[in-house]
Amino acid sequence: MRYAIIADIHSNLVAFRAVLDDIAHRGGAEEIWCLGDIVGYGPEPKECIELLREYRHCSVAGNHDWAAIRKIDVSDFNPMAAAACNWTASHLDEISIAYLDALPLVLERHDFTLVHGSPYAPVEEYILSSYRAKESLAILSTKHCLLGHSHVPMLFVLSSQDSDCRLVSLSHEIHLNCGERLVVNPGSVGQPRDGDPRASYMLLDNAHRVLYHYRVEYDILSVQDKMRCEGLPCRLTTRLSYGQ
Ligand code: ZN
Repeated sequence: MRYAIIADIHSNLVAFRAVLDDIAHRGGAEEIWCLGDIVGYGPEPKECIELLREYRHCSVAGNHDWAAIRKIDVSDFNPMAAAACNWTASHLDEISIAYLDALPLVLERHDFTLVHGSPYAPVEEYILSSYRAKESLAILSTKHCLLGHSHVPMLFVLSSQDSDCRLVSLSHEIHLNCGERLVVNPGSVGQPRDGDPRASYMLLDNAHRVLYHYRVEYDILSVQDKMRCEGLPCRLTTRLSYGQ
């Protein structure tokens, strides 16, 4: 079975469509595993939810998903994120709101736990250090952890031999070895922040126990045009060009 692992779509329908096309081009996936932040920042929140729901999928909630439906307060958000969140809230219909409201914080699929931020604080904490990655694995009932939130593709490997957890440079092909536990961030579909503006996602070939990391080009200019038309904050528009 093959599974698509996506995170942080952030209302970027053009990037999301490009990723779905890429998945189809590579033979498709049995199910999409979405790690939250379907909405926020971008210009087409409702459309992204509707498109995701056309596919067999599961998703956890992200902080922007909850903020858009007022499940969490935006007072912790920076002014740009808060402005985009308020815009998003006014562009969701009742069906989209009910969908976001029903998203769980944590899911388990095979030997993976799916969460947006961290198992400790699912819509708050960023996992950026090997120390916190190891602590996250310690409280899971599954072997591996998939998470998003930072918009940076990352791989932490905990070795059973020396119980050392390391941040490993990400390659195109990640093999799931028996003696290792992984914390994996597939990067962001709709707002990458690792210096590469292309959409980022992963495919899991569960039979062969391999994760593949892919980058996909999309029409960034058309998304930026839509964002300007909607009056979304300028910095959110320009950052798409740089992947920052
Ligand atoms: Zn996000």
